Amino acid sequence: MSNPPILIVEDEVTIAQTVRAYLEQAGFAVHVVGDGIGALDAARSLHPGLIILDIMLPGMDGLDVLRRLRQESQVYVLMLTAKTEETDKLLGLGLGADDYLTKPFSPRELVARVKAILRRERDPHASDTLLRLRRLRIDASAHRCWLDNVEVELTAVEFNLLLTLARHCGRVLSREQLIEHVWGNNFYGDDRVVDVHLGRLRKKIEDDPTNPTLIVTVRGVGYRLADAPL
Ligand code: CA
Repeated sequence: MSNPPILIVEDEVTIAQTVRAYLEQAGFAVHVVGDGIGALDAARSLHPGLIILDIMLPGMDGLDVLRRLRQESQVYVLMLTAKTEETDKLLGLGLGADDYLTKPFSPRELVARVKAILRRERDPHASDTLLRLRRLRIDASAHRCWLDNVEVELTAVEFNLLLTLARHCGRVLSREQLIEHVWGNNFYGDDRVVDVHLGRLRKKIEDDPTNPTLIVTVRGVGYRLADAPL
């Protein structure tokens, strides 16, 4: 029983206790905390092997907890989301979650996902945070991007814009949607900031930035990534 414990971060007691019971039955040691600050403390003191992290928490939300965690550790994180918007936001931000489940979920499914993650090698090329498109390759957890196998240096904003477009490949995203994914809900600036950063991103990845073929402008609607998935 020397395996590191699993940390559950969830303020809804019923869900936390159900998940705990199923994981303990599967042979895991489990620790439960109900808020984000407690989660960061427990992650530092317990050195868990995996963290199950709910997004909707009192005080600091799960996305902020994940952001802070990733500054100090590469511990496996399985996120719990309650709404499609939460899931979109999680994926769009590319904060480095290893997997996620949307509520309501089956506790058996959760145990299966936990086991699958723990079996995974810590190799970014084996993880599902790697997106492969025809010309672009994006490693969401390492914040790296390659065009035609040549690495492209991007700022954090440029990277998150590209990642968001890639995760919605082929779909048009409005400026407002891009702002929500990249800057979050607390953005009060001018939405032309999107055009500015996209202009810089295009200079780095388009063969001819004045006639873009990868990030296409859809007039009156927004932007679409035209590179196809492999
Ligand atoms: Ca919750």
